[in-house]
Amino acid sequence: MQGVEIHYEPHVYRQIMHWVTRKIAGEAHLKEVSGFCKVVVRDNIIHATHAFLAPQTGSSVETDIEADDLSKLVYDTRNIPGELQLWFHSHPYMSTNWSTTDHRNMIALGSPGWFAATVFNDKWEHRSAIYQAVPFVHFVDEVPTKMASYVTTAVMAGWDEEFDRCVKAKPPVNDVFGDVAYEKLETERDSLIIESERIEAMIVKEKKKRNSAKKVQVLEFLQEKLDSIEVAYEAVEKKLRDLDYADLQSSVSCDPGNSYSGNTYPVGDCL
Ligand SMILES: [Zn+2]
Repeated sequence: MQGVEIHYEPHVYRQIMHWVTRKIAGEAHLKEVSGFCKVVVRDNIIHATHAFLAPQTGSSVETDIEADDLSKLVYDTRNIPGELQLWFHSHPYMSTNWSTTDHRNMIALGSPGWFAATVFNDKWEHRSAIYQAVPFVHFVDEVPTKMASYVTTAVMAGWDEEFDRCVKAKPPVNDVFGDVAYEKLETERDSLIIESERIEAMIVKEKKKRNSAKKVQVLEFLQEKLDSIEVAYEAVEKKLRDLDYADLQSSVSCDPGNSYSGNTYPVGDCL
């Protein structure tokens, strides 16, 4: 079986470290901070889901936990799921070794059952332990402590609901009748018409000029250009007709049961 672990929700860890590394207004040095986490225990993992500071007078000297403060916090956080069974505090400018006071606090907190504890310092180090008193005394030190998210299926169901409500599949591009291709071909046809009109105007202009060998050459050149435009125009027109045909085919549904076998009917005549 996997040993017990403590997992801090990333935002809870960040919140605690924010407090651990925050100075009291007007103070030059960090002071000890102390508080409790709501935890949800599942699959041998103690998930720390919410963090709360206990009322305290900032001190860098280890202080005993006030039982009244914990009782009040238990009451104030009664509507948040989980239990207040994790004590965290900081050791500013010190190692994360447990002090005598820490051991005393853990024993006091765990005496009704069990309690977890993590000590943090300003070097972003931490150490966790679990003290259990019932039904036997058991102390586990250096409990693996990770930053990991604990999400219940109920929370995920809420995420799913929001996702399904807001995120829809993109409808397929409606190009079954070749609308996009059709527009593209029409644009191409328009530009060919404009180009042929431009060439025709040049031919008219050139014809007005005095006859010369150069005039003949230019007119030949322009006519060749006009012919190639005409070929391109015919090709585009054919593609457009093909699309019209495909359009017609897809818009007419034939019931094979009403067709005469062996006979082929022009598309569109099948009613
Ligand atoms: Zn301590």
